[in-house]
Amino acid sequence: MFASLKGRTAIVTGGSKGIGRGIAEVFAAAGVNVVLTGRTQADIDAAVAALSEHEGAVSGVAADVTSPEDCRRVVETAVERHGALDVVCANAGIFPSARLEDMTPDDLEQVLGVNVKGTFYIVQAAISALAATGHGRVIITSSITGPVTGYPGWSHYGASKAAQLGFLRTAAMELAPKKITVNAVLPGNILTEGLIEMGQDYMDQMAAAVPAGRLGSVADIGNAALFFATDEAAYVTGQSLIVDGGQILPESPEAIADM
Ligand code: NAP
Repeated sequence: MFASLKGRTAIVTGGSKGIGRGIAEVFAAAGVNVVLTGRTQADIDAAVAALSEHEGAVSGVAADVTSPEDCRRVVETAVERHGALDVVCANAGIFPSARLEDMTPDDLEQVLGVNVKGTFYIVQAAISALAATGHGRVIITSSITGPVTGYPGWSHYGASKAAQLGFLRTAAMELAPKKITVNAVLPGNILTEGLIEMGQDYMDQMAAAVPAGRLGSVADIGNAALFFATDEAAYVTGQSLIVDGGQILPESPEAIADM
């Protein structure tokens, strides 16, 4: 069994909704104090209220990851509230769709700004605090889209998710002497509020393309992130873990039909 993470502190950017909220819940249930972020105060308040029953204390801070100042404020707040910062989950991300022919410089700037620069800023802001614990953890939410697969309309998104993996390999080397590990979880199709809004038919269609026969849950991603946060994962760094129910495995639709 893994040693308890009870009493540790984690920041989860984009923890007010979706996968981030799922990560926050898994961590809080494991006794980790969570400081979750997002830009929308109402969503933060709702998430904090919903997760208040868990052993770890859950609180929120409104902050934009595209602002280095905001990222520094989040780290300072976490340390003020809990005395230390052990884990950073760089999870905040956006995925607007735009085909290459229609994509504006602003579209590109926005996606790279949140997904790539936002990852840099929160990690940079947290280095000293993570190093001070002697067991710092950075866990990035990337995606199968970009590093492994493609999807029309998401060239900028895919590039941003692959960029996160380029970032983590060098960050893992630079931070290893400080005993900070840097790893990533690559989710497949995860059942979030956004996906539910697309309707049951869409969800059924997506689930049918996954060998596991279902969409992923936010807890599936939270559990993988929790593994990277453990003391037992201290020797795992610079790695990425695909959590997709086998979604990337079929070489054709016929392969799924033959299962
Ligand atoms: P979501 O439900 O839309 O939640 C996104 C979260 O990020 C929200 O809390 C949002 O809050 C926050 N956020 C967005 N822009 C931000 C900014 N500039 N600064 C701070 N927070 C910001 O999305 P999700 O589906 O959970 O996705 C979370 C991560 O998982 C992303 O990195 C995404 O690429 C990755 N992912 C998702 C899936 C999937 O199937 N859902 C699959 C693979 C990878 P505000 O809008 O209030 O700021």
